[in-house]
Amino acid sequence: MTRWQEEAARLDAADPLADFRAHFLIDDDLAYLDGNSLGALPKATPDRVAEVVRAEWGEGLISSWNAAGWIDLPQRIGAKIAPLVGAQPHEVVVADSVSVNLFKLISAALAMRPGRKVVLSEPGNFPTDLYMIEGLEKQGLAERRLAERDGIESALGGDVALLLLTHVHYKTGEMFDMARLTKAAHDAGALVLWDLSHSVGAVPVDLDGADADFAVGCGYKYLNGGPGAPAFAFVAERHQADLQQPLSGWMGHAKPFEFSDDYEPAPGVDQLLCGTPPIVSMSALEVGVDLMAGIGIAALVAKSRKLSEFTRAAMADMVPELPCISPDDPEVRGSQLSFRARNAYELCQALIARRVVGDFRAPDVLRLGFAPAYVRFADCWRAVQTLRDILDSGEWRKAEFAERSAVT
Ligand SMILES: *Cc1c(COP(=O)(O)O)cnc(C)c1O
Repeated sequence: MTRWQEEAARLDAADPLADFRAHFLIDDDLAYLDGNSLGALPKATPDRVAEVVRAEWGEGLISSWNAAGWIDLPQRIGAKIAPLVGAQPHEVVVADSVSVNLFKLISAALAMRPGRKVVLSEPGNFPTDLYMIEGLEKQGLAERRLAERDGIESALGGDVALLLLTHVHYKTGEMFDMARLTKAAHDAGALVLWDLSHSVGAVPVDLDGADADFAVGCGYKYLNGGPGAPAFAFVAERHQADLQQPLSGWMGHAKPFEFSDDYEPAPGVDQLLCGTPPIVSMSALEVGVDLMAGIGIAALVAKSRKLSEFTRAAMADMVPELPCISPDDPEVRGSQLSFRARNAYELCQALIARRVVGDFRAPDVLRLGFAPAYVRFADCWRAVQTLRDILDSGEWRKAEFAERSAVT
């Protein structure tokens, strides 16, 4: 055994979360380092989904809206996500996708800052965040402004209505200082919307402690809600009375079952609901959230840091030719590491062929994600060792590894 393999075995033996992998349906020989893109399947999910479909829908039919608690699912799951992001239970609700929730909350923020139109973000932010601002710009409602990380604070002029940032950068894993940037935005009279898609369930987030205004986050990454799982949205309690979002669907009405002609927003985060919630998907998400909430954020964060730190050190030692573009300091890094490689795509495909799943982010990034609930230190060691093998043998040059599919 090499030194790193021994170290991995030692860390796995001492890992307080080691038993949690058994809660997921994931092959023992699979090193799955892509839970930051699509979380693994909790073992309890197929049975829960079957129960929702067969018993609650099949037998209960329409009575299940009340009897099975379908109608409260968006709030119930939101309340369970809240402690993972430092929010109060009534500040979080589950609905739609991250993109749609961005639209609602960017619009709501603009309405709360009349006379200001600028939505400030950073170039290279996750595409959908930038595109959603663009969509509002095309309607004449917003003006998109982008500033590099170190220039964000100075770009916060008196015309900025909203600062929209992704807390952990999807490509580099860099993590913003949420409290500092939120304060800078508030000092400039702007509101802040945090995208927590790469944060929730893996890094410490304290929305209320940072005095954040709004947030959105993803259900299918570290929350293990399944492909296309619904997303969540956070609105600080102090803004809930003034909130006005434009997708004024009937499920966000104060009294949807009075079927009135006029829209009256529900109080609180309930207003963020638009149409009828996807109950089957929400039920799957609830299983994933229950698992993460059961472990607790402190234990998840502690293990995430150990996994990424172990991998960073092993990579620097064994694969020094691939520079790490993620921060060295675990305090300012998400639960992932990204490496720059000219043939990142081919390397990634060659790794997958050897049952080590990471992912590729265009144009030249190989990304390894550490979902602390089920990733083992041995998986991290295997990723590093396999990468070394593939580089040494030139295996990645095989033509089959250069073919690109629709999803990369
Ligand atoms: C994954 C991700 C999203 C996903 O948005 P959807 O609309 O749910 O597809 C949004 N923002 C960031 C930063 C992400 O990482």
